[in-house]
Amino acid sequence: MKRFSHAPGPPPDSATSQDRQEKAVERRLDELIARLSERGRRITPQRVAILRVLAGSEGHPSAEQVHRAILPMFPTTSLATVYKTIHLLKAEGEILELEFSEFGNRYDGNKPYPHPHVICSGCGAIVDAEVSGLTEMTRRIAEETGFAITTHRLDFYGLCPKCRAERAAADRAGARGGEAGDAAGAAGPDTPAMRNRPAPAENGATYDVPRPIAAK
Ligand SMILES: [Zn+2]
Ligand SMILES: [Zn+2]
Repeated sequence: MKRFSHAPGPPPDSATSQDRQEKAVERRLDELIARLSERGRRITPQRVAILRVLAGSEGHPSAEQVHRAILPMFPTTSLATVYKTIHLLKAEGEILELEFSEFGNRYDGNKPYPHPHVICSGCGAIVDAEVSGLTEMTRRIAEETGFAITTHRLDFYGLCPKCRAERAAADRAGARGGEAGDAAGAAGPDTPAMRNRPAPAENGATYDVPRPIAAK
């Protein structure tokens, strides 16, 4: 089998990472459309736009963020339409829903299976993390507890590089003393509810068990 039979012209290695990223988004979008139409769901242009945002966003958007992203193209689309599409994807197991008391629900339409996340307690950014040995860990936990493990959720909390840089700049300004320092500190990312939030209890993990949702 020729590995790159459908890639004429420059070899794939020369493709920019943006090209690869765009192709991956298109592939994922095609998968989502195929899955929904197999189940007899109507694929409207609005729905394609919603699916494209979910397939393409690595930022784990909220339903509101998805809605805002498509409004310029489809100004009459309601938030309820976004939720309905998300519910259909959930019913098909094609989207991962992450529930947070602080930021509401966020969605990963790229990787619908459980995977670790790194979450910024400053700005709420959510990034996928690569962790090796998770399959082995799950196997051991199943063995030790006698549970049939169906899913898991693994969240790491901290400060993202952008928030760290902003805090460091604010600290430097603060160290110089005076009112300038106070002003810089006040201008930094400041979400008191998040700042002093205790680390999540180890046994407080919520499990994101996929459950079928009746589509209306
Ligand atoms: Zn941040
Ligand atoms: Zn993710």
